[in-house]
Amino acid sequence: MPESERFNKVKLLQVMVAVTAMVWTAILFGLYRWASHAEREHLSRLASLRAESVANHTQALRGWIGGHGGVYVEINPGEEVPYLPGDFPESQVVTPAGRKLTLLSSSAVLGKITKEFKSSSGDQVRLTSIQPMNPDNVPDEWEKKALDVLEAGAPKVEAFVDDGQGSLFRLMYPMELQPRCLRCHDYLVDSPTRIVGGLSVAVDKAPYDRQYDKILHQLSLGYFGVWIVGIIGLASFGVIGSGLLRRIEYASTHDGLTGLLNRREIEHHLTAECERAERYKHQFSVMMLDVDHFKQVNDTYGHQAGDEALRVVAATIRKTIRRTDIAGRYGGEEFLLLAPETSLAEAAELARRLNGAVKDAGTMLPGGLRLSLTVSIGVSALAPDRKKPDFLLKSADESLYRAKVGGRDRVVADGA
Ligand code: GH3
Ligand code: MG
Ligand code: MG
Repeated sequence: MPESERFNKVKLLQVMVAVTAMVWTAILFGLYRWASHAEREHLSRLASLRAESVANHTQALRGWIGGHGGVYVEINPGEEVPYLPGDFPESQVVTPAGRKLTLLSSSAVLGKITKEFKSSSGDQVRLTSIQPMNPDNVPDEWEKKALDVLEAGAPKVEAFVDDGQGSLFRLMYPMELQPRCLRCHDYLVDSPTRIVGGLSVAVDKAPYDRQYDKILHQLSLGYFGVWIVGIIGLASFGVIGSGLLRRIEYASTHDGLTGLLNRREIEHHLTAECERAERYKHQFSVMMLDVDHFKQVNDTYGHQAGDEALRVVAATIRKTIRRTDIAGRYGGEEFLLLAPETSLAEAAELARRLNGAVKDAGTMLPGGLRLSLTVSIGVSALAPDRKKPDFLLKSADESLYRAKVGGRDRVVADGA
């Protein structure tokens, strides 16, 4: 398999890992955004539920007090006397024991209690009127708009409002005209609307925002942790996978003993180089190298010494050929060398150098014995009648045969 194809497989794996990492990042980021949004919604809903709860309790209290015509209370010295129409009968009574009691309307009681609410919980509750008798009940800007919406028929109005000091959740329920209202608010008899005001609740959002920030921090840490574990896993997979792929590719294309290309791979290169040289009309030569009397080496010194001798021959080939030449182990003690851009004469010259280099290299055997080998080399070059890889190989093989027959330890080129 050509080098570029092998490289592409590793590259493909790396691209796949990078794309998966991007998808993983996008999924986790999306989940994080979704979770933080859901958390914000949840906390907003809690603020809204709290406001509704305060409003419902207040409505119940107001209804109960109003239904009983107000409540009599003892006003403490210095305490402000809440507003009640001056001509309201029995607004002030004295008990037989001499206690002075003042009648408070539901709105007056709420006015007092809601001040307590605000100081203890931060929740603000108040009544607002469309035609206020009590100056405290004059609606603010938001309440005015909310009253308009309620008058138009909405069952409630709610919104997050920034009052300049912080964010509030505001809620307004309508107060409908009841017959008992007319005891104090008789001017409403001819009121054109059924709504006389609203119950206005404001819940401070700051505690919910603080809670949200806390949860967001935990969410960020959690999601970052999961993300980084995934990325580390993917990166490890990429590194280990690329390494394994390279090793598998190497093992499938190289000879285990000599480290040169194996037969299948050198044949791939032979075909590719042949086609290239043929297409661009370049020179191209091949050399078939066979170790002489190698069987004797095995028989005399053993297989391990034979293996070592083959390694030495391969190393000598690697050192002697040019960077652009390609070498492979074709069979047992046979090597195929490809020499692109090389004429037959140049290849024969290279083969002669190789022949000398192998002789010079020698293999050190256990016991200090130096084994010197000779090789026979058949050389062939691309020619009009030899364009195909098979013909080239056959011709190099025939030259090799002639070298053997001619006495070994020599180079024979095409037609020589
Ligand atoms: P010639 O000069 O005619 O080529 O003779 P030769 O002995 O080299 O050729 P032959 O084909 O008779 O023997 C080749 C030997 O190479 C036989 C085989 O045991 C040996 N051989 C092939 N592959 C290996 C190998 O991987 N390791 C070792 N140690 N020997 C090998
Ligand atoms: Mg041989
Ligand atoms: Mg042989």
